[in-house]
Amino acid sequence: MNIAIIGAGAAGLAAASVLQRTQSVTLFEQQSVVGGLWQTADNFKHTALYPSLRSNLPAGLMAFLDFPFQHHLIPPLEGDYPGPAAVAAYLQAYANHHQLTNKIQFNSDVTRILPINKTQWLIELADRPAQVFDAVIVCNGHYTQPNRPVIEGSTESALKISHAKDYINPDPFRGQRVLVWGSKASGMDLVREISTTAEQVYWCGHDAGRDALVRDKSNVSIHQDPVRLHRDDIQLTGGDHLTAVDQMLLCTGYQYQFPFLDDALIRVEDNLVHGLHQHILLAKRPTLAFIGLPYLVIPFPLFQIQSQWLNAVFTGQLQLPEAPQLIALSDAAVARHLAKPAEPRHFHRLGPDQLTYLAHLIESAALAPLPDTFLARLKAVHEIKLAHPQDFRAIELPTQTFLDPQPA
Ligand SMILES: Cc1cc2nc3c(=O)[nH]c(=O)nc-3n(C[C@H](O)[C@H](O)[C@H](O)COP(=O)(O)OP(=O)(O)OC[C@H]3O[C@@H](n4cnc5c(N)ncnc54)[C@H](O)[C@@H]3O)c2cc1C
Repeated sequence: MNIAIIGAGAAGLAAASVLQRTQSVTLFEQQSVVGGLWQTADNFKHTALYPSLRSNLPAGLMAFLDFPFQHHLIPPLEGDYPGPAAVAAYLQAYANHHQLTNKIQFNSDVTRILPINKTQWLIELADRPAQVFDAVIVCNGHYTQPNRPVIEGSTESALKISHAKDYINPDPFRGQRVLVWGSKASGMDLVREISTTAEQVYWCGHDAGRDALVRDKSNVSIHQDPVRLHRDDIQLTGGDHLTAVDQMLLCTGYQYQFPFLDDALIRVEDNLVHGLHQHILLAKRPTLAFIGLPYLVIPFPLFQIQSQWLNAVFTGQLQLPEAPQLIALSDAAVARHLAKPAEPRHFHRLGPDQLTYLAHLIESAALAPLPDTFLARLKAVHEIKLAHPQDFRAIELPTQTFLDPQPA
């Protein structure tokens, strides 16, 4: 098959490294370099990352399963948790290792992906002729379109509201009273960083256990979600109020977007991408696939396993049911999710279910099992984060578990 891969971030590189073994692959990347989100050549203007960011996973767990993170890429001050430049360098090294660079069409903005005839796809590009492929793998990332929840009164309010996507450093918050909304990794990192310059940080959200993450920060207090803004007053879930807040920073996540796909082909509703089998394959036309949609996961290894599963489908090693049955399976998976108390938009948030998901992909496609080292590292990091939620990056990793094989 002749396969187009949209995006040369970590997901696109993983897909290409796996699929190129059995198929012909071409990657389209709108930037002039690989690395996606981790590329910060434009001084962090267009990425969700910021200069002081450190990975929230140690390099030894974050790395692709077939390519250890080369520690010489990480500046000593960053320890085991690399910053953006080191991860970008690692992704470039991965692309070199798998000889992917000559398969990438850089500065190629994919504007439309259209099904043509019974099986093929037309890829339209911003400034060059369209090209035809047998299959398309979408790896366009999902950290470019900020999710900005609408709060009653926010359009009339004079409160300055920004999103984590635009965050560069804590200077604009100096001496201010800042409401930070969102309790996941970005929320925690930015609350801690902003507390170094702000007068007061009100950390709003609905996840329990946040106090343990900021116990050492005397100017951070924990609150529920904001629900209504009125002049100087912010009403919170449960009836509490905050007053005299100067700025609000949204750490409320991002939205999936596929601007190059027609709504008739793919429907995204409340951040749930409908019609996919195993979060990967478009059930009604299973030559369109998506690598990297799940979040709250260990991303790079997950991208690889998803790609291996897809490779098994494309080579016929894994026989899937016909489209009508795949559609029914996909609808049933969504229905099961909607029947749970979880919010619809958390369909692709795997969290603790990621190992079950990976085990299913591995078993159904008869893939190699997850390496023991990966599982041991996952367990060790989980334990460290539980015991040291606020300063896990400062804790020494168990040396034996994190010993990488020396290059031959
Ligand atoms: C704040 C933050 C911190 C994170 N920290 C970690 C961490 O510590 N460890 C970890 O493993 N993961 C982390 N992640 C998760 C991160 O998503 C993954 O590491 C990974 O980089 C995602 O790769 P991707 O290829 O899916 O997306 P991206 O890196 O976004 O790559 C998508 C690529 O597609 C290209 N593209 C998009 N649209 C088009 C188009 N129309 N035409 C051509 N090209 C296109 C883009 O230019 C880009 O290069 C973090 C994410 C965020 C937001």
